[in-house]
Amino acid sequence: MDAIVVGAGIGGLAAAVSMRRAGLDVTLVEQTPRFTEIGAGIQLAPNATRVLRRLGLLDAVAAQAARPAVLSYRTWSDGSEICRYALGREVEEEFGAPYLLLHRADLQRVLAAAVPAGSVQLDTPVVGVDQDEESAYVTVAGGERLRADLVVAADGVRSAARQWLFGADEAVFSGTAAYRALLPAAAVADLDLPDVALWLGPGRHFVHYWVRRGELLNVVGVVETRAAPESWTARAEPGEQLRRFDGWDSRVLAILERAGQMLRYGIHTRAPLTRWGVGRVTLLGDSAHAMVPFQAQGAAQAIMDAGVLGDVLAGVAPGEVPEALDRYARRRFGTANSVQAGSSRQGALNHLPDGPEARERNARMAAHAAANRFPPFATAWGVDVVDGVDLDGPAVDKSVDGRRPSA
Ligand SMILES: Cc1cc2nc3c(=O)[nH]c(=O)nc-3n(C[C@H](O)[C@H](O)[C@H](O)COP(=O)(O)OP(=O)(O)OC[C@H]3O[C@@H](n4cnc5c(N)ncnc54)[C@H](O)[C@@H]3O)c2cc1C
Repeated sequence: MDAIVVGAGIGGLAAAVSMRRAGLDVTLVEQTPRFTEIGAGIQLAPNATRVLRRLGLLDAVAAQAARPAVLSYRTWSDGSEICRYALGREVEEEFGAPYLLLHRADLQRVLAAAVPAGSVQLDTPVVGVDQDEESAYVTVAGGERLRADLVVAADGVRSAARQWLFGADEAVFSGTAAYRALLPAAAVADLDLPDVALWLGPGRHFVHYWVRRGELLNVVGVVETRAAPESWTARAEPGEQLRRFDGWDSRVLAILERAGQMLRYGIHTRAPLTRWGVGRVTLLGDSAHAMVPFQAQGAAQAIMDAGVLGDVLAGVAPGEVPEALDRYARRRFGTANSVQAGSSRQGALNHLPDGPEARERNARMAAHAAANRFPPFATAWGVDVVDGVDLDGPAVDKSVDGRRPSA
């Protein structure tokens, strides 16, 4: 059996590793001339790190990561703590794998190292995908047509493959943009920052966490705005972030000032689907379920897609591929779509205006944290891609070992 993966982002690379472990020959086709090193952080919750362990990659990924102990929620104006949750040993005990914080380039390097260089075609934009009864085909710029038993389109939030499969449908602007930066730890050493912090304010929130074994601080300030392009490299105006967070706690302003000129990413999503593929071609990752990042789950869900894809294809004959891909989507879309919707709701909660609603939210959060070790959205951390999935019905939230997380 052989497969072509379109797109060498986190989803495409994880899918290539997973299918190779299932015994398939995999060719990865990526439009950029080299692996894109995005200068940003990424949080990997245990639903993703459990899959990385199955793929034999957890130790290598963990060696590059920072391991947080706590998640602290704070008030925008004075930095007072609303509540805190555990992210360290307790997560491993409850969910069977760690919560890790990474530089994206470090994660991508580990994933790419697990795919033989000879099976990756860089600088190769895909311009079309089609299929017949026996095969699926990818046409690349220049006209060459590559054949395989199946094609996995992991071509991201602006997926063209999704349009080729299902017709006109564009990425949707979420109404939010993220100001991003990475700072050397030494530049913020005097600020006494917690491992992971989320500062909530009207129409915006601010997140920071350590990456690369604690050497760098990843900073993301999310604001509501009318329009912003989807780009990992677009620069904000000098000082723009300071104007957007005017009046915030002095530690937030100190971080934003020391960040210098920040990058600005317009956050886009895709409408949820209940079919991810047609015949021998399927979507995976953001092409299937791009979501706002307010529960830090987009890449985690892509990694889970990859885990299931490997499972359903192991031992399958070429004639059984369409049925196997259908099982893959049915095992994944319930969970992915529900995390996507939950992430949007989280954004609205994070951005409540000052007043009774925000006070009530803060009181609810404090009460929840007093009774639970993990945040409410940690239900997603317990969903397992192999166990606890009802093949014939919607995916069910069930944790490792059949225990439900206490969140
Ligand atoms: C600000 C922000 C913070 C985030 N934080 C987190 C977090 O903490 N935790 C988390 O789990 N998720 C997070 N996410 C979500 C996460 O970044 C995405 O869900 C994830 O990167 C999607 O991976 P992907 O492989 O599906 O797509 P992408 O990473 O977009 O990869 C798609 C690849 O396909 C290639 N491609 C596209 N079209 C073609 C073509 N025609 N031919 C060939 N190649 C093509 C592209 O060049 C690209 O390399 C965050 C997102 C944002 C915006």
